[in-house]
Amino acid sequence: KTEIVKTRVLVLGGGPGGYVAAIRAGQLGLDTVLVEAGRLGGTCLIRGCIPSKALIHAAEQYAAMAGAATAPRLGISLASPPSLDFAATIGWKDGVVDRLNGGVAALLKRAKVRVIAGHGRFSDARTCHVATAEGGAVTVQAEHIVLATGSEPIELPFLPFGGKVISSTEALSLPAVPKRLAIVGAGYIGLELGIAYRKLGAEVTVVEAADRILPLYDAKLVEPVRRWLDRHGVALHLSARATGQGRDGLLVETAGGEAIELPADNILVTVGRRPVTRGWGLEEMAVAMDGAFVAVDDRCATATRNVWAIGDLVGEPMLAHKASAQGAMVAEIIAGRKRRFDPRAIPAVCFTEPEIVSVGQGPDAPGTITGVFPFAANGRALSMEAGDAGGFVRVVALEAGHRIVGVQAVGLHVSELSAAFAQAIETGAVLEDVEGIIHAHPTLGEAFHEAALKAMGHAIHA
Ligand code: FAD
Repeated sequence: KTEIVKTRVLVLGGGPGGYVAAIRAGQLGLDTVLVEAGRLGGTCLIRGCIPSKALIHAAEQYAAMAGAATAPRLGISLASPPSLDFAATIGWKDGVVDRLNGGVAALLKRAKVRVIAGHGRFSDARTCHVATAEGGAVTVQAEHIVLATGSEPIELPFLPFGGKVISSTEALSLPAVPKRLAIVGAGYIGLELGIAYRKLGAEVTVVEAADRILPLYDAKLVEPVRRWLDRHGVALHLSARATGQGRDGLLVETAGGEAIELPADNILVTVGRRPVTRGWGLEEMAVAMDGAFVAVDDRCATATRNVWAIGDLVGEPMLAHKASAQGAMVAEIIAGRKRRFDPRAIPAVCFTEPEIVSVGQGPDAPGTITGVFPFAANGRALSMEAGDAGGFVRVVALEAGHRIVGVQAVGLHVSELSAAFAQAIETGAVLEDVEGIIHAHPTLGEAFHEAALKAMGHAIHA
């Protein structure tokens, strides 16, 4: 027997786009249903941002202790080298995910959102048929639909997932640290995981078709990461192509055209993600497409009336905070508020070693001046052994009027500076505003202050 549910808003997909849209809609008093086929939290919480950052943290702790055992630079040495119980590490990571997953469920309940666990499929732009996780059937009829089905890893036809060939999902729950890990694709997901596994003791090799790592970030930002990889023995094959799986590992055509096989216990394929546009009735919704993505305007409205789409489904940047911002915005628009999505200050963060942040425009933007301040001249960075890694903060401002239009940084913990950078751009700050803010000493944020001063030609410490 099919249950019929009528509602004001139906959100399909409970990732950071969909669950935020549903909570905000509920807060605004809209009758809301959320349909999620897997676990609440989506890619980000279950197999993306959170578990990867937990694994990265555990790897950092392990590497720091291993370093203390062998190189007592800070006057610390361990009596014996640390040991790793990787199953316990994965168990701890799963605990972090479970706790946040429970938190999302509680928040949805508090916002009075009805959550239906099951796979949804539309028969028209108002009607969604859900095959529930318990084997039942629910038909939801809604005035407004919010599509938030997210994205999935791209599979290479000559390296299908299965056996030793894994995606980021499996890489976050391996039974043991692989002795030899080959990674195809040097974007942020591949490198974050590769660096973590290197710290956990794996021999890591990265194969990338472009002639550099992290091709979406400018070369200067990437250089300190590249240096870390070289120093820690991560082998890089640039301008090289993975061609398939051999008897012992990964088959590669090198930049010189030579065919080689890289021995590997696991082959991690991180060549990008594609939007989930299949399986939920895209054709029946009659939404327009923009390449592989669902096309939306600056209110996240699709070509079909009262059908909205957000997050990874609608294009780059495929980031959790963009999905959430769009989700909250769409709920407010449905509730009658005037909103537009402005992508001018979306921070992009790489949780590599060291970390990279990029917000807004780069130094090549026309009509701009730039100030760069190195962490080598920042007291806090030096006191955390992070002064020698080549890190810096860079501020980009309009030459006329000094409005800040971009900030980038590479260095230890710079992810935590990303909000300050985005605030400066979002609030229309000029260099003189940052100059006038008294920054606490000693903190990494002082490098932002000094970079703004530098752009005006009068940094104090450089
Ligand atoms: P998703 O999170 O993909 O959620 C979509 C949900 O829809 C899924 O739960 C899915 O089960 C559900 N769904 C799909 N179809 C149906 C259907 N027919 N019926 C019911 N439910 C359905 N981003 C960051 O900002 N910072 C990071 O540090 C970061 N790290 C990452 C690390 C990794 C390893 C990966 C893979 C991604 C990372 N991301 C990060 C990207 C981030 O996870 C995504 O940008 C984000 O999850 C997109 O949110 P979304 O709501 O659009 O979709």
